[in-house]
Amino acid sequence: DANLDTSIFSDRESEVRSYSRNWPVVFDTAKGAKLTTVDGDDYLDFFGGAGALNYGHNDDDMKAALLEYVQRDGVTHSLDKYTVAKRAFLETFTSNILEPRGLDYKVMFPGPTGTNAVESALKLARKVTGREAIINFTNSFHGMTLGSLSVTGNSMKRAGAGIPLVHATPMPYDNYFGGVTEDFQWMERVLVDSGSGMNRPAAVIVECVQGEGGINAARAEWLQALDALCKRHEILLIIDDVQMGCGRTGEFFSFEFAGITPDIVTLSKSIGGYGLPLALTLFRRDLDEWTPGEHNGTFRGNNMAFVTAEVALRKYWSDDELQNRTLENGRILRERFSPLVYKHQGKLELRGRGMAFGIAFLENPELAQQVMARCFDHKMLVETAGPSDEVVKFLAPLTLTDDERDRGIEICYEAVDNVLS
Ligand code: PMP
Repeated sequence: DANLDTSIFSDRESEVRSYSRNWPVVFDTAKGAKLTTVDGDDYLDFFGGAGALNYGHNDDDMKAALLEYVQRDGVTHSLDKYTVAKRAFLETFTSNILEPRGLDYKVMFPGPTGTNAVESALKLARKVTGREAIINFTNSFHGMTLGSLSVTGNSMKRAGAGIPLVHATPMPYDNYFGGVTEDFQWMERVLVDSGSGMNRPAAVIVECVQGEGGINAARAEWLQALDALCKRHEILLIIDDVQMGCGRTGEFFSFEFAGITPDIVTLSKSIGGYGLPLALTLFRRDLDEWTPGEHNGTFRGNNMAFVTAEVALRKYWSDDELQNRTLENGRILRERFSPLVYKHQGKLELRGRGMAFGIAFLENPELAQQVMARCFDHKMLVETAGPSDEVVKFLAPLTLTDDERDRGIEICYEAVDNVLS
């Protein structure tokens, strides 16, 4: 059957391809939390485009706005010229997201994707402080370009790329060892002691929940202590919200629950709303020391993504409904999987916040791969994460129905129980 043929991929596409190896079928259409193959098989999507599909596939209102825009020959490619689509996006982002939270960030469009936002954040921090070094964290992930990869706390991901461009010092993330006080006592000591050999950093870059690192959720106290440390030493705090932003943890920004206001924030993935590429770097007004054209790029600010993003912000962030639902669904996931933690004592750990949810296999990392495979056999897509890929990671659309949520829980519950039995 020519429809099912995948030979062009293995012949022609680089060996760098990854997801397709776990899910070797050809997808054709998608709606909400459902992905359909060319031969008509429906898959329940708890992978969620690695965080890019918080509002599911092909949302009706975003699609209608996009079709209308394309139909009337709305500008698609504009670099950073002023457009009607960009204006509408900025207005809605200001009124629905920034102002209700008392945030007065300047907004920059650094390029099409998450790693571009991280690069621009690192560059800006270095420029405004005149310092070079960056503090990052164990198990962090910030992107695949040389700068963002240099501050990624995973030596395996960096291995092929040679010497890091940016001098990054990895510090222990929350719960890596010890508690809040111990971590910060030694971080502070290393910072102020010239004998530690550490260069005074320009910035700290951190995820409030580490996505690729295995759904490690930092506690509010830990983030507050980090924020205080940064303020005491005039180090800029960059929160990388590329994966956990746009409501994944409940609130729009993953740092809101801790009551902190970072100096710089990166956003991408779900900000475009429709799976279209868009990235934002937000920063304190007084940090806007860029000179015109100092960080540019051909595909910064995609107008079609502005159109769908604006609908997403208007439709889903005009009230607290999505936030409440996300927190509630997060509680339900934890509650429903808890019996497995008791049944298989010492073998599993549930992690996360809101709809960033992980099931970690503490003894045998390979079981997570087996769960992913078994879920696929039962027509469900879940990804694995963590340094040994030992965590089954859920990034289901926040808009999934109760029925889809329950079906996903059922399939995955059976898979976890099965591989441990
Ligand atoms: N930062 C974080 C926290 C991410 O999870 C990712 C992507 N997984 C990136 C940056 C890089 O984003 P992109 O893949 O769009 O370049």
